[in-house]
Order: sequence, then structure tokens, then C-alpha cells
Amino acid sequence: VRTAQVFREKSGINVLTGHRVERIDANGGAVTGLGPEANAFAIPFDRLLIATGAAPIVPTRSGYDRPEVVVVKTLEDTHTIKTRLHSGAVTKAVIIGMGYIAMEMAEALRARQIDVALVKPRAELLPWMDAELAATVRRELESHQVQVHTGFDAVRIEGQGGRAAVCDPGGTSLPADLVIVAVGIAPNSALAAEAGLTLGPAGSIAVDPRLRTSHPAIYAAGDCADAFHVVSGQRVWIPLALRANRAGWAVADHICGKPVALQGVAGTAVFKVFDLQVARTGLTAAEATRAGFTPAAVTISAPSRAHSYPGGTPIQVHLVGDRRSGRLLGAQMVGREGAAHRINAPAVALHAAMTVEQFSQTDLAYAPPFGPTWDPLLVAANQLVKKMKEES
Ligand SMILES: Cc1cc2nc3c(=O)[nH]c(=O)nc-3n(C[C@H](O)[C@H](O)[C@H](O)COP(=O)(O)OP(=O)(O)OC[C@H]3O[C@@H](n4cnc5c(N)ncnc54)[C@H](O)[C@@H]3O)c2cc1C
Repeated sequence: VRTAQVFREKSGINVLTGHRVERIDANGGAVTGLGPEANAFAIPFDRLLIATGAAPIVPTRSGYDRPEVVVVKTLEDTHTIKTRLHSGAVTKAVIIGMGYIAMEMAEALRARQIDVALVKPRAELLPWMDAELAATVRRELESHQVQVHTGFDAVRIEGQGGRAAVCDPGGTSLPADLVIVAVGIAPNSALAAEAGLTLGPAGSIAVDPRLRTSHPAIYAAGDCADAFHVVSGQRVWIPLALRANRAGWAVADHICGKPVALQGVAGTAVFKVFDLQVARTGLTAAEATRAGFTPAAVTISAPSRAHSYPGGTPIQVHLVGDRRSGRLLGAQMVGREGAAHRINAPAVALHAAMTVEQFSQTDLAYAPPFGPTWDPLLVAANQLVKKMKEES
């Protein structure tokens, strides 16, 4: 996005690439580590921001260190993958994991006519997603010849005839010239933990709404840190780019004497699976129950354009509300058009702590090419209002 040189020249920031911090001396006010030639460095600070991000999880299982195995985190990782693809030696790929990075990689590899198999141990494709919506995503993958092996625990990767073979305990093995491990990430919080800072969910660094850690001179922001959920008010770890960027800016403001308290996150996320747009915001019904709500949910399908306008396709909407307070808790959407950015309407409603009834009364846009008179979100909200009244 921006080179180190631009930071140095335009912003006057002394960017030290190739420098790995190995220790934070919180009370002594210094970081120490190793530079590009393994030269030791020590840098004192009045205030410190930890923004170490997250790292892909690679299981410590047999064969996961084979040369065919890669992760997708850095630009260097993608260069490694591209070099392999350009060598023409890759005709079969196995992707371990079924999150958004796995699905985006499946699409990219299919575009190069490579055979792709996705594997994961659990039975559900996207466990957080409503089953009807997840079934649509699965159909989309399979219609593009991606083999979806749920219930496949990749316990071992072996070499077999000059290729890798990804093996499950039952004796099934899938041949692969390239194995992408995309089973999730973990926050890079070891330095913070060793410095005695308090950790939050999933081992992320616990911060307050002003991004302050448990040490008064140290802040943390981005994938390494936690945040407060705007619906549950609880600490959560949802590593995504906007909140990382916003938190970084907020820390800078804070250090420069302009204190900013962040509202928190709604967990709004979108991704593309071939021709499908997949979107979510807020809590799922299961997360709502765990957070102490009494959720009710509906799933509807409505056209992406007015009936009279050609070319419409279904948008599936799943809405979750709280029976006791009437509050809107979360939304999920899947569709070929109009799903990705539509999720921003319920996301704003979550920040505003709207009830489902209030959301059902919002004045959402209508014109035939963009949706029916009653937007799919309003159809879902009306049904949820009805359901919550019937059940109360
Ligand atoms: C393939 C992929 C696709 C993604 N797509 C999306 C998307 O569509 N939408 C979205 O919202 N998010 C997406 N994300 C997530 C998004 O990239 C992250 O949320 C965001 O980059 C987090 O920013 P960050 O600054 O906290 O961490 P990072 O960008 O990971 O930066 C952390 C930095 O800290 C450095 N560092 C770590 N440890 C040390 C140390 N000890 N000493 C010195 N430096 C250190 C690292 O080298 C790195 O430069 C995607 C991520 C991946 C991998």
C-alpha cells in the first residue's frame, strides 16, 4: 500500500524494516531485538504501540513442514505460490481449512484450471453460518468443481510418487502438488505476555476502548489486540483490517493528546466465493445465547431486483433478534448481487442498538434494478418482528 521509503520521506517516520523486536522491557521503557545482520538493537520509548498482527496456525503434525506446504499471510507467501504455479508443476492442490482465505484461494486456483480439494475435520462448511446459507455456499463451490471434504481430518502429509498426499485417519489420502494451510490465525502476543501484559480472548492483548493495555505506557492495536463487541459489550478477538487501521489511528491521536474512545466492533465481514457474495455482521444465534441473550432467528429468500426487472437472483437473509429486549443482534446474507454492501445497513443498526422493530421501519432505498419495493432486509425484519411477537 505504501513503501517504507514513503513513510520515511513524506511522514518523517524512522521505519526500520528487518528489525525483529525480541523483548519489551515495560518498566525500563525500551524494546530490544535483532536487526538485519543479526545486530542487536535497543530503542527506548515514552509510549509504545504493539501492532504485531497475527500469524497463521500451522499444526505440529507429521509432514506439515514438507516443501509443498504453504500458508497465505505475507506478500512473500503469495510470491512463493505464484512461482510454483508459473513453473507449471501444480495440477492438484489441497487446501486445509474452509474459512474465507481458503475459499478465496480455491477460486484463484480454479481460475488456473487446477484441481482443488478443500478439507476440514468438522461436518459444517462454515459453522457460524445459518445452515441454509451455508448450503448455498457449498453448492457454489461444488458447481465450480471444488471438492469439499468436510469430516476430513488432515492428520498427516506424506510424500507419494513425487507429490504430497494429505491423509486422514481413515486411510483416505488426497494427492497434491501444493498444500495450502488456512486453518486460522493466532495473535502475535508472546512479547506482550512475556512483558507481563494482560491477555484477552484467544490470547490477544487486552485493551480498553482507548487501546491502552494493562501497562499505562503501552498501547496495542490491530490483529494482536482484542476489542469490545458493540452488541454483547464483551471482549472479542475479531482480526479484520478496518478495525486494525482505525485502532492504529486512534492510538496516534491518543499519544498526541487527542483522546479517542472507540465504539467497538460488530464483526462485519464480507467475502467472495466465485459468483457469491457472503456477508455477516453481529452475533449468530449461538453466540447470542452464549452472551446471555434469548435469540430468535428467521431465514428468508427475496429477489435482488424487482420482479418486473430482468436478471434478479435470490438474496438469502438470516436475521437474529433478542426476544426479551427486541434488539437486533445480527445478520447474515448470501447472494449473487447486492449482498456484500447491504450488510452495512444492519451493521449501522447494531451500532445504534436498534430493535428489530425499529430496523423494520427504516427507509431503505428502492428502484427496480437494485431490489424489490420491500428490501430483502425489511422482509426479514418484518418476519422476525412477527416471530418474536408470536413467541413472547
Ligand atoms: C490472505 C488474507 C486476506 C485478508 N482479507 C481481508 C479482507 O478482505 N478484509 C479484512 O478486513 N481483512 C482481511 N485480512 C486481514 C487483514 O489483513 C488484517 O486484519 C490486517 O492486516 C491486520 O493489520 P495489523 O497491522 O494488525 O497486522 P499485520 O498486517 O499482520 O502487521 C503486523 C506487522 O508486525 C510485524 N511484526 C510482528 N512481530 C514483530 C516483531 N517481533 N518485531 C517487529 N515486527 C513484528 C509483522 O512483520 C507485520 O509487518 C486478510 C488477511 C489475509 C492474510
